[in-house]
Amino acid sequence: MENKNIECSVKQCEYHAQQVNYCTLGKIKVGTHEANPTMPECTDCMSFKRGQ
Ligand code: SF4
Repeated sequence: MENKNIECSVKQCEYHAQQVNYCTLGKIKVGTHEANPTMPECTDCMSFKRGQ
């Protein structure tokens, strides 16, 4: 069941709702791979899990 509070377009993730662009988790963790993040692309969903 999709969580309407978490929009996501990463369909390759195990937790993506697939039919609609939402996450199915109740909450997610966001992090960064940059030392000094300056734009959205600098952030990552740390709850991502590779789908089948
Ligand atoms: S865990 Fe993160 S990447 Fe995966 S569907 Fe949810 S928001 Fe998207």
